[in-house]
Order: sequence, then structure tokens, then C-alpha cells
Amino acid sequence: MSNFIEDIIESDLSEGKVKSIVTRFPPEPNGYLHIGHVKSICLNYYGTAVKYGGKFKLRFDDTNPAKEDDEFVRSIVDDVKWLGVDTSNVLFASDYFDKMYECAVKLIKKGKAYVDDMNAEEIRLTRGTLTEPGVESKNRNRPIEESLKLFDDMKNGLVADGALILRAKIDMASPNINMRDPIIYRVVHEAHHRQGDKWCIYPMYDFAHPIEDAIEGITHSICTLEFEDHRPLYDWIVRECEFVNPPHQYEFARLSIKRTIMSKRYLKKLVDTGAVDGWDDPRMPTIAGLRRRGYTPSSLRDFCEKIGVSKANSEVETGLLESCIRDELNANAPRAMAVLDPIKLIIVNRDDNFSEELDFEINPTAEGSGTRKITLSNELYIERSDFEVVPPPKFKRLTLDGMVRLKGAYIIKAVGYEMDGDKVTCVKAEIVEGTKSGQDNSGIKVKGVIHWVDAKTSVDVEARMYDYLLLDTEEKMDFSERMNPDSLKVMQAKAEKYLSLAKGGQSFQFLRQGYFCRDIKEEKLVYNLVVSLKDSYKK
Ligand code: ATP
Ligand code: MG
Repeated sequence: MSNFIEDIIESDLSEGKVKSIVTRFPPEPNGYLHIGHVKSICLNYYGTAVKYGGKFKLRFDDTNPAKEDDEFVRSIVDDVKWLGVDTSNVLFASDYFDKMYECAVKLIKKGKAYVDDMNAEEIRLTRGTLTEPGVESKNRNRPIEESLKLFDDMKNGLVADGALILRAKIDMASPNINMRDPIIYRVVHEAHHRQGDKWCIYPMYDFAHPIEDAIEGITHSICTLEFEDHRPLYDWIVRECEFVNPPHQYEFARLSIKRTIMSKRYLKKLVDTGAVDGWDDPRMPTIAGLRRRGYTPSSLRDFCEKIGVSKANSEVETGLLESCIRDELNANAPRAMAVLDPIKLIIVNRDDNFSEELDFEINPTAEGSGTRKITLSNELYIERSDFEVVPPPKFKRLTLDGMVRLKGAYIIKAVGYEMDGDKVTCVKAEIVEGTKSGQDNSGIKVKGVIHWVDAKTSVDVEARMYDYLLLDTEEKMDFSERMNPDSLKVMQAKAEKYLSLAKGGQSFQFLRQGYFCRDIKEEKLVYNLVVSLKDSYKK
């Protein structure tokens, strides 16, 4: 099924309105990209430019010197590239400042723009409301020559911040408030991350964006729905600046995900206040965070395909994103054993010299993935929760005198345990003879299979268990009141040695525990929980 953007493009192509399509992704470098931006990138790149054999441009919308930074430029290029997009040709809106300035002068000369001296408060008070027209400024009809001179003064650094502005002269009575003589240039005495001190006037977004699109020959300028009411202004700017083959703007619904912060401004607040450990904290919905968590480019693209593109805003379930990476890892990730909350288990009917190599299936869902060897000795680790002195009803794991199978190894029977206070510290068990996996002809049936690690060859692993950053609240509370105090739990786990050989970014299924990805940043052995095994994550 095609989406409405594809319908528009297909008819534009077949009617010959455009020869080939050109799209763009225009981030402002004022933060790291998040999953919402992934939706936009997938639509502008894979969903349109690639699909219709057109061109795609990554263009930084760097027209506001106060909030922008080179660190953000670098992170954005990295993230876009990681998603698989060709980033060989990165563009910057600030490279068009000369052209934007010329456009502004052109508008003044045409009597379509004027210099005004209203401050922000006065602009607000004279803008009118949805039911009342705005009030025209006393400077609205100032002679063209005078506006040209004042605009020149603004450009030449003779005017203080906020003292003068350039406004488009459109219609103060327009039912669309965006058309009531919007500001198009303002004075900001601040150095720009690329232009340095060359400029002290900067264009407003609504003026700059259509010009950027027009200069680059963008055919379909796709943005989110909040800009629908700005479209008449977009069209006015490209028309009055006399661009031939002007671009057109189309709006789609932005991505919102339950319990997920989707705004660079708020994400920056989390970083700046230390609520998270940087932009790439694995709990963050940033591309950098998702990547560190263990998400792959293909899982994010799969997610974007599943959510589709529409004109109706809605909130996506968090489970949908998780299911995309879970399905991928279920198919691809090697299996491994790690004990997250370990207690010792001693095999009492084997001595200290006992050592066996066992075959362990790498991935039962991937045909031909084969087996690898794991070791078994008389000292193991098992999960604390897999042994109960007083088992609850229907407990299928190990109890005193009960039996359970050690995954890929033998059936064992618990014959004793040691305690320290009310905590079990060690379980004693016997191997039941003749029950080796694959060669078991004992006829013994056990209800439970537990994972384990050979204590003599195990490695220490820090397992970082993540939960959502935000609590699941009904009321619309401020994010700061919704922070989940338990979004990170650190476990000192024991794992097979094999897991210490993995590279950063490699993911595994820890049997019975979930999917884990080796951290890409930490030197020590850290594994991040990517996603649980089943969709039982919603607590
Ligand atoms: P934020 O509020 O998070 O800073 P933004 O829209 O201000 O987002 P930009 O850098 O201006 O961030 O966005 C670049 C592009 O990404 C824009 O075209 C914008 O429409 C798109 N975009 C931003 N957020 C979303 C989202 N949640 N879903 C889909 N597209 C988005
Ligand atoms: Mg923005």
C-alpha cells in the first residue's frame, strides 16, 4: 500500500511536473538526533529519494548561532551515516546567507518587506488573534529607501540586538497569523559556528527554509504537521523571491512513542542535568543511545516501515520498536549463557579434576549456525532465583531433592545447600548418571531446564539492565516528574568466557534472560540489555 507522499510523487512524475525528485533532511545542529528524526530520514531517503531514483541532501539548518554547535554537526553526520545514508555531500544553510540577504533586499525593493522597530512584546500585542485582525505597524509604509538604509545598518553592526527587525509585508488581517507581517531577519551579535563574525543579522526559519530548499532544487520539501499553517508563507517567500521551479512543502505526522521524550530540547535537559549519562546513554531515544543499546540500522528501518507515513498524529506503542529488534536478534543473535545474579553450585559426585567439553547450539532458529564448545566442571554458577528452599506452588526449577536439567549438560539433583543468614550461598548437587544431553536414555523427565556457567572458566560481566526513562503515568505530567528512578539496574554477572571475546556492538541472546549487546564505549566487559526475550517488558 502506498502512502500519500508516494501518491503525490508518482503523480508529479507521471504528469511531468518534476523530472526527478530531490528531497532533504534538514536538522538543526542543536542536539543529537532521535528516533523521530529516523522516521524523517527514512521517509526522505529510503522512502522517496532512493525509491524513485532521485537525490537526497543532508542539509544543516544552521541559521540560529545561539544554540548550534560543531559537536552536534559531527554527531548528526555520524548518525545519519550509520543509518546507511550516503553522507558524502553535506550542506549547510549558512553557506546561503549571502543569497538570503539578497532575497531580503529584493523583497524590500519590491515593497514586500520593511524595517520595523517593534520589540517582541509589541509584536505579540499587535499580532491580533484568531478572531481579530492584527494592527499595522507605523513603519509598515516607510519609504523603501529608508528600509534599505536601515537594513544596511543592521547588517553593518550599527544596530543593537532586537532594536530593529525586517518584516515581510503581507497582510495584517490575514486569517492565518503566520501571514501577518512575519519577522524575516533579526539582529544577533553572536558568532556563528561556521561563519564566525561575518554576520550580525540572521534569517528566521520561515524565511530561510524555503530559500534553502529552492537553492538546492528540492522538489518535495517534507516536514511535520506543525508546519501546515506555515505553508502559505513558504509559498509566498519562494514566489516573491522569484525562484523558478519552486519547491513545494508537504506535511506528515510526526512520530511520538509512548513513554518516550521526543524533543531535542528536553533530551538536552536530561544530559545537562545529569539525569542520564550523556546523549548516547542507552536509555536515550537518540540514535546514538539506540545504537549503544544494541539497535541496528535495519531494525530502525523496519520500525519506520511498520509505522508508515500518514497525516494523522498518533502515539506508537513502545513495544512495536522493541519487537523490531527482538525479531532481528531472535533470528541472528548467537546464544550464550550468563548468570546475572549468581550463586555457586557444587557437583558433589565429581572431583576437582572433573572437566568436560559440551556442544552448545549457537542459534536453534538459524539453520546451519552450528555448535560451539562450553566447559563443565564441578563448580558452577546458577541463578539465585533458580533454587528455592521453600518453593512456591508450580515451581519448576531446583529444590532440595528435586531435579532439573542444566542446559546442554546433565540432569542434576540438589542434595544440600549452605546459607548465610537468610540467603542461600551455595547449592550442592549430584549429576544424575546417564543423562547427558543428546545421549540421555535414562527415561527421567524433568520439568525445568536452567542455564549455568562453569565457575572455573567464567568471566565477570557487568550487565546493565534498562527500563524506560519515564514512568507510565496517565496524567500529562512534566517530564521531570515522570522520571523512572529504576531505569538502570547494574548486575555483577558471571558469563561464559566466549562473551569476553566479542567486539563492542555484538549482540547475544543470554538464555532465559534477554538480548544483550556488548557496550561500544566501555573498556571493561559491559553488556547492555537490548530488549527482553518476550513482550513482557511492560511492567
Ligand atoms: P526537536 O523538537 O526534537 O528539536 P525539530 O523538528 O526541531 O525536533 P529539526 O532538527 O528541526 O528538529 O528536525 C529535522 C527534521 O526532522 C525536520 O524536518 C523535522 O520535521 C523532522 N522531525 C523532527 N522530529 C520529528 C518526529 N518526531 N517525527 C518525524 N519527523 C521529525
Ligand atoms: Mg527545530
